[in-house]
Amino acid sequence: MAKVAINLSTGALQQEEVIVGIDLGTTNSLVAYIHPEDRTPIAINDQGQGTIVPSVVHFTQTGETIVGTAAKDYLTTDPANTIYSVKRLLGKSYNDLGGHQDYFGYKVIDDNSEGLVKVRVQDKFYSPIELSAEILKELRERAEHALKTPVNRAVITVPAYFNDSQRQATRDAGKLAGLEVLRIVNEPTAAALAYGIGLDPEEEKTVAVYDLGGGTFDISILSIHQGIFEVLSTNGDTYLGGDDFDRAIINHWIQNNELIADTVNQDKHLSQELRLKAEEAKKTLSSQQVYAGTIDGKIDCHLERHTFETLIAPIVARTIESCRMAMADAKLQPEQIAAVIMVGGSTRVPMVYEAVSTFFGKQANNSLNPDEVVALGAAIQADILAGNRKDILLLDVTPLTLGIETMGGLMDSIIPRNSKVPTKAGRQYTTSIDGQVNMKISVYQGERDLVKENRKLAEFDLKGIPAMPAGFPKVDVNFILNADGILKVEAIELRSGTRQEVEVKPQYGLTDAQVEQMLLDSITHAREDVSTRMVIEARTTAEQMIYQVERFVEKNREHLTPDEIALTTANVQRLKEVLGTGDKDTILKAVDILEEQTSPFAERIMQISIKQAMAGKKIE
Ligand code: ADP
Ligand code: MG
Repeated sequence: MAKVAINLSTGALQQEEVIVGIDLGTTNSLVAYIHPEDRTPIAINDQGQGTIVPSVVHFTQTGETIVGTAAKDYLTTDPANTIYSVKRLLGKSYNDLGGHQDYFGYKVIDDNSEGLVKVRVQDKFYSPIELSAEILKELRERAEHALKTPVNRAVITVPAYFNDSQRQATRDAGKLAGLEVLRIVNEPTAAALAYGIGLDPEEEKTVAVYDLGGGTFDISILSIHQGIFEVLSTNGDTYLGGDDFDRAIINHWIQNNELIADTVNQDKHLSQELRLKAEEAKKTLSSQQVYAGTIDGKIDCHLERHTFETLIAPIVARTIESCRMAMADAKLQPEQIAAVIMVGGSTRVPMVYEAVSTFFGKQANNSLNPDEVVALGAAIQADILAGNRKDILLLDVTPLTLGIETMGGLMDSIIPRNSKVPTKAGRQYTTSIDGQVNMKISVYQGERDLVKENRKLAEFDLKGIPAMPAGFPKVDVNFILNADGILKVEAIELRSGTRQEVEVKPQYGLTDAQVEQMLLDSITHAREDVSTRMVIEARTTAEQMIYQVERFVEKNREHLTPDEIALTTANVQRLKEVLGTGDKDTILKAVDILEEQTSPFAERIMQISIKQAMAGKKIE
């Protein structure tokens, strides 16, 4: 293997190769890089296909994947095998989707409502991580093809409101796509960087980033000081965007054209055509006053800009209301905002631009392409991390990830590598067994998914957890890494206040060569690590399910019929048998069967206990 140098301040391997910036969007994704000669960011347009790659993955009958514009064509003809908006599912459990389950045209698995969602396509289960990885692979291939060089490293953007688990999922997706993810950057931060804001460490200002995409809207207020971007507040609506403009146009046409109204419900082709025409009309009206189109050369569908504006006014007003709330949360007045940055394809609508500029009392920045601005900023961030911008001060960062061991021997990262120090992060855990009174906290350092491949830093027992059923105790584990590189790990059980802590120096006894080797190993093993992790997660889900079901049957035997008990036992047995297969799809399918069969039980028992409680109560 070739000798590679490592930049210890960034943790990046220094090879002569590009680092790309990726905007992994809900509707569209893009990849950008810094042109080596003129040093400007450019969105990659491979083979003249355009810079935008629709975030759509289609599975063919033979199980192959198609990503992008070609996949988009299957949205209407083969919805069950065509996955869109997967970003909405990243790092989420089914419960997190709250009421929006019907939004998806494909099958989102709803068992194990606490666990991460899965998508079922034909006979296979895919995690949103795997699906996002398909999009990232496509972007990576386009970049490699266009730049004629291997692309192994990237900076990927996420919305400012993404939580830990969503950020970790994005990292994992990158890993699975064969990318070393140098940093996860907030989309509004990237947009500001693209406009050159925050590049000068002396600069101190507050900016607003208004991002209206296809199906999501968010507003972020950022404070920038000493090269640090701090999110003061965010607001928005994850189910509001340009698609709503399209729908408003379609409804308008249906209401005003009897021919369309009469046929639209019977004619699938027409409704699809209407959708395409509505988007075309909307885009045309961003630069012209009138749109005059026909469907199949027969049905007239025209629209004037002022009519369109009447249709969308309530939607635009909602986004402005969000801006107002974000400003109130940040405790700022519009005059205190130095710049307003427009992001997302839908900000091309002139009415949107006017409304935002009016609200903030200044002309918003829209000189850069709003589709590309996030990817361009990500490319700039990548360039900074590569150490190519000598003028920019790099802050101290931790070279290796710090985390703890969770079920199945998995590494749960708490402070990701490349985080600036000092830093603080934490996560909540619970017990897996009834009456558990001790919890072992094992602290590790490293990039591998299995703790046994990482470096153990410390271990301690949190004792004295009050005996409660599994899942009830709440244990906060906090990592506090100070500027001297000392890590304090504390664990607190919230109900009892039981607390334990330990201090270690993660870099102690670790040579540069070892850090380098650990990083190299993690890159070589990235893919197998992610697949192993997924099998372990499936197995953990299964083991917990078995534990719960067996305990349930034991307790409620009297309320179940002998047939139900027999079937449950058989399904549990079947699940136990497949546990050892190491095939996540087989395991998850068996979990699904057991879940479906037993889910009506819980409700029945609840009914019985409510009845008993009522019967026992004396009504006066
Ligand atoms: P996301 O960030 O959610 O992936 P984008 O920022 O790519 O989404 O925005 C996609 C949306 O922008 C779509 O609804 C699309 O119709 C809309 N859009 C693109 N170009 C225009 C335009 N010229 N005028 C109005 N809307 C546009
Ligand atoms: Mg976007």
